[in-house]
Amino acid sequence: MSRVVVGVIGGTGLGEALGTLGQGEVREVETPFGRPSGPITLTEVAGVPVALLSRHGEGHLLNPTQVPYRANIYALKTLGVTHVVASGAVGSLREEVAPKNLVIPDQVIDKTFRRPSTFFDDLAVHVELASPFCGGLRNALVKGGAGFPGPVRIHQGGTYVCMEGPQFSSRAESELHRSWGASLIGMTVMPEAKLAREAELCYALVALPTDYDCWRPHPANLDQAKLIEEILANVKVATQNAIELIRRSMPHVAALAEKPCPCQSALALGIWSDKSKLTPETRQRLKPLLEKYLG
Ligand SMILES: [Zn+2]
Repeated sequence: MSRVVVGVIGGTGLGEALGTLGQGEVREVETPFGRPSGPITLTEVAGVPVALLSRHGEGHLLNPTQVPYRANIYALKTLGVTHVVASGAVGSLREEVAPKNLVIPDQVIDKTFRRPSTFFDDLAVHVELASPFCGGLRNALVKGGAGFPGPVRIHQGGTYVCMEGPQFSSRAESELHRSWGASLIGMTVMPEAKLAREAELCYALVALPTDYDCWRPHPANLDQAKLIEEILANVKVATQNAIELIRRSMPHVAALAEKPCPCQSALALGIWSDKSKLTPETRQRLKPLLEKYLG
């Protein structure tokens, strides 16, 4: 690989703030899986080519179930993206993961159940997902976080439980997720991470904890309105920190061009179907993903 092109998928908060990462050329992309969440901006951050996409679309109209995850990842792939840095707001399941900290998780438990989660409906493809996030890309983010200014704590590792939503957890569910050893609860990392792996893109996440979910009793003086106000204020601060982290990580991400990564050959042993039996329509539809294996 000669060069890195970074896709940045901004979640709650960051989606709206992505514009501050740079002006650029705006592309409307069509895919066989529909239109992405919104237009994709091609620009540069710290000299690295970047494609910016807001996950929930303009005006945050798409809830986590309705996000067109397949179109988003497919569109980034066709624009030449090799690495995806995603962000998303989460609830914290651990006392030490405080609101406004940042987390670079290393594991996922997928509880989503009504989202298309594979590109390969017409053939059998089984990719490895033991490590759902790319180790090299996570390291680049960790390096970018070294010497981060101020009191911002960046947690390396942690398990993210991805729920369907859009409702938040019951207290019993929140306690269950804690008993599983998870650190974060969120609604968007899946199937995004699975699809990135199927598209042979390196993928890592910057998670933005905004509150303690519902397992931790709220201070008695905090009513619901104040709580929401506090969460929104936390999103704002965490968003600025996440943008700064992504900016600082770019040189380290660019350096990954020198190192071939297993994510980028995820399909090499994963295609179980007889490729000669694929219809011309399937070949055409999946061309950007399967091209190098179909000869
Ligand atoms: Zn990788």
